[in-house]
Amino acid sequence: MLLEATTPADEVNPWQSAAHRFDEAAELLKLDDGTRKVLRTPAKELIVNIPVVLDDGRVEVFTGYRVQHSIARGPAKGGIRFAPDVSLDEVRALAAWMTWKCAVVNIPFGGGKGGVICEPQILSEGELERITRRYTAEILEFIGPERDVPAPDVNTNEQTMAWIMDTYSMHMRHTVTGVVTGKPFELGGSKGRPEATGRGCMIVVLEALKRFGLRPEDTRVIIQGFGNVGGMAARLMGRAGFKIVCIVEYDGAVYNPHGLDIEALGKWRRETGSIVNFPGAENVDRDSAILMDCEVLIPAALENVITSANAHQIKAKILCEGANGPTTFLADSVLAKNNVFVIPDILANAGGVTVSYFEWVQDRGGFFWNEKEVNGRLEEIMVASFNDVIAYAERHGVHNRTAAYMLALDRVASAIRRRGLYA
Ligand code: NAD
Repeated sequence: MLLEATTPADEVNPWQSAAHRFDEAAELLKLDDGTRKVLRTPAKELIVNIPVVLDDGRVEVFTGYRVQHSIARGPAKGGIRFAPDVSLDEVRALAAWMTWKCAVVNIPFGGGKGGVICEPQILSEGELERITRRYTAEILEFIGPERDVPAPDVNTNEQTMAWIMDTYSMHMRHTVTGVVTGKPFELGGSKGRPEATGRGCMIVVLEALKRFGLRPEDTRVIIQGFGNVGGMAARLMGRAGFKIVCIVEYDGAVYNPHGLDIEALGKWRRETGSIVNFPGAENVDRDSAILMDCEVLIPAALENVITSANAHQIKAKILCEGANGPTTFLADSVLAKNNVFVIPDILANAGGVTVSYFEWVQDRGGFFWNEKEVNGRLEEIMVASFNDVIAYAERHGVHNRTAAYMLALDRVASAIRRRGLYA
């Protein structure tokens, strides 16, 4: 049965959003009850309470999670985030999205996710290292190159991955590079991984433009988030000729109708700590910036940015979801009614996990590819996946997001049936 749209709190609960979209796709696919039950529930959930000595000698206990939603198509795959508002529901939703994302781009992984409740901004490098190593030790039996392969997410990075790889390797008594992806290049990381998610966004937007008869030079882009995903997408799309007219950050937004100089904006932020007051642009209101006129909107920062309260004001023709879960399930129908062409998160930001897959393959084979090879293979997968989703949407008369979920569910359900996982 479909979940009903309920309270405002339900609208922004990522697990409710994930469950709602799952139910809709399962219903349309007429998925049998047993498979529905299997896929609606995460396969494994681990909660750990990690004691860590702080720099001032006090002992603090941090709570961490690792959830494996499904391993039907291969080892669980998914990032680890460090943030004060991490919750089990959020980690569950993110793990389920990873299952669907890996299936949409047809790579041999299931879905997992992890998180630690902490405030990285007030923790020292040493404290973050101790949290990471202790968290890794506590989830050690859960992870591994053939079991569950973490990666960076919000507030974790290459250094975090290097600590996880080292802690895991210490316990295994030999170096195991394939236990995490998103590592520094000298520790088994892949060329092209830092740009992969932003590059993937650009590739699918270029495919979408063909459907609108638009060229990059005629395309105004607004990007929310100037971090890994948004910053890279801005840089690459700027170089490809797109007009990046607005960048939105947590402390303000900057706008130039003729296009911002993205390299100069990056330099400005490095020097001043903010994008605000950038010369050659006008400061605009952060919350209304994503509602301005443009051809492409890329939310690449947070969850629940486009909701039932503002979806009707979105003017973009194409919405490319760089972040995970930026649109609530109640906003979906509003966007559909207004003919916004949605490139859903489980497709749009799949470039990251795709190059993570390449990294895992390279680590296991011990042979490393050059950047051209990585980018070429990424483009091949993103273009094919975009076309698969659009063809599915047209064949079944559904919207792109529903099509992406249906395609993913179909692939995972088929793996479950072939394996006979509930025998
Ligand atoms: P990040 O921390 O590098 O960047 C996020 C940026 O958003 C930061 O610059 C931050 O200041 C900004 N931000 C925070 N609050 C904001 C607000 N209220 N308004 C505007 N900007 C705000 O993180 P990231 O790795 O770029 O991830 C962003 C999103 O993309 C997350 O949802 C993440 O799960 C998703 N994602 C990331 C990857 C990846 O490879 N990094 C892959 C797939 C999906």
